Amino acid sequence: MSPMSFELRDRDLLGRIGKLTVKGKTLETPAFMPVVNPMIQTIAPRRLKDEFGCDILITNSYIIRNHFLDVPNLELHKLLDYDGIVMTDSGAYQILVYGEVEVTQPQIIDWQKKIGSDISVILDIPTGWDIPRDEVEYTVEKTLQRAREALPLIEGSDNLWVGPIQGGKHLDLVEKSAKAVGEMPFDLHALGSPTEVMERYMYPVLVDMAMTAKIHAPVERPIHLFGAGHPNIFAMCVAMGYDLFDSAAYALFAKDERYLTVRGTLQFKDLKYLPCSCPICRNKSPEDLAVLPRGERQRLIAEHNMHVTMAEMETIKQAIVEGNLWDLVETRAKGHAQMTAALKRLSKYDKYLEEGSDGFKGRGLFYYDYHSIHKPEVIRHQDQLLGSYRRPADKSILVLMSEPKNRPFSGNQGFIKLRKRMNDNRVHYCFVAAPYGLVPANLAETYPLSQFEMAKPLDHETIQYTTENVRQYMEKYPHEHVVLILKDTPLEEALLEKLGDLVNSENIIKSEELGGEDTMESLEKLLRSFN
Ligand SMILES: [Zn+2]
Repeated sequence: MSPMSFELRDRDLLGRIGKLTVKGKTLETPAFMPVVNPMIQTIAPRRLKDEFGCDILITNSYIIRNHFLDVPNLELHKLLDYDGIVMTDSGAYQILVYGEVEVTQPQIIDWQKKIGSDISVILDIPTGWDIPRDEVEYTVEKTLQRAREALPLIEGSDNLWVGPIQGGKHLDLVEKSAKAVGEMPFDLHALGSPTEVMERYMYPVLVDMAMTAKIHAPVERPIHLFGAGHPNIFAMCVAMGYDLFDSAAYALFAKDERYLTVRGTLQFKDLKYLPCSCPICRNKSPEDLAVLPRGERQRLIAEHNMHVTMAEMETIKQAIVEGNLWDLVETRAKGHAQMTAALKRLSKYDKYLEEGSDGFKGRGLFYYDYHSIHKPEVIRHQDQLLGSYRRPADKSILVLMSEPKNRPFSGNQGFIKLRKRMNDNRVHYCFVAAPYGLVPANLAETYPLSQFEMAKPLDHETIQYTTENVRQYMEKYPHEHVVLILKDTPLEEALLEKLGDLVNSENIIKSEELGGEDTMESLEKLLRSFN
């Protein structure tokens, strides 16, 4: 349809760094676009670009049309005094708030073309919140009908056009909406109306909505999350594959004297310190701000809010480059109980997140607790062990060992000594290590098994998961004999309990040191008895 390019530069989980080009202007994604009301400019658009690094903003074409319909040759970028990319909404938000708008779809499409919008939206019908299912169905159907009707009107336009996805919390309808609009030649997609879900802190619901839309929309097109403006949820939303965000939160929160941080929102009156390194917070104290006239203080809080918002996008992009976006998501999820609940919900989709991730980032991995067992590297390891991995041939004895302290495990001097002394070709040596489960000695030098650290003591879920993975491997590759060389730790005790029926109790060796004389003698004796 229109000459858009969207190149991917890097990725982690479903998150991606992309380069979006429209009408000769480029934008790096993921990107946040501040909502700018042309009538009330909290921060002038030119300053948003020059001082805050906003290469894109969003404004409302319906409001502009109401005020400037009669102005000849109105040009949006001139009106806003802004030379970045301007996205325009169509008035759909006003439908959500006021129930209707006094404009037809052909009129608002024509207007968005005429004023030189770069990214434009059809006149969709947002799904509200807490409305009966038949009304939700109506918004989905009506939006799809509007999308079909829009196609001939936007053909040949050099604006990029957004095909909105509706359905609210009804995931089957979100799926239907995403699939149907995804088949139409739109440039981008956007998930509509999650604002209320976010305002009510229903982040787990947001995860379900966002993942459903993402899974069923065309992956090669950028996807926008309407109305997501709090920096604490950006990392999770980027991890779910969202590229664009818009919100007026920076200004609306400032009007209530609320100070944004990546860990949540603080009331300005409660601030004894300004825990931020933006220019406002570096040059002012809470006392300085408190004595300013109200409007001036709110303007400065809005500026701080914008700085925090933009800085979080940089943090996220760096995490994508480093391949530790999941760690950032876990960290941000600690800011609110409902965010942690959302992280738990997100783990349901770990297969999808794994598929998006590159296999090798070359950096050591940290595992903190059971949230971390959903990291792509852990999922992938178990898939490979039970899938493409082939156990070394002719092995009839499985020797399972507690993980040594150093990495790679196979470089442990005790292990080297033990293997040399046994000199037994029948043995398949494997380490047991949380969270992976089983680490065959011949894979221990490969990434990521060679570079990881798991926080101890382990929690119950991690022990369960680890031992379950070991059990699955033992089931897939039955051995004539299984020996456990175990240390005295909770993982080992749980392992013993779980594998008890798979391992003869006489084949369990308690050992402090793999290369220790007692351990080696016991193993030697067992191997001899297997003749
Ligand atoms: Zn600040």
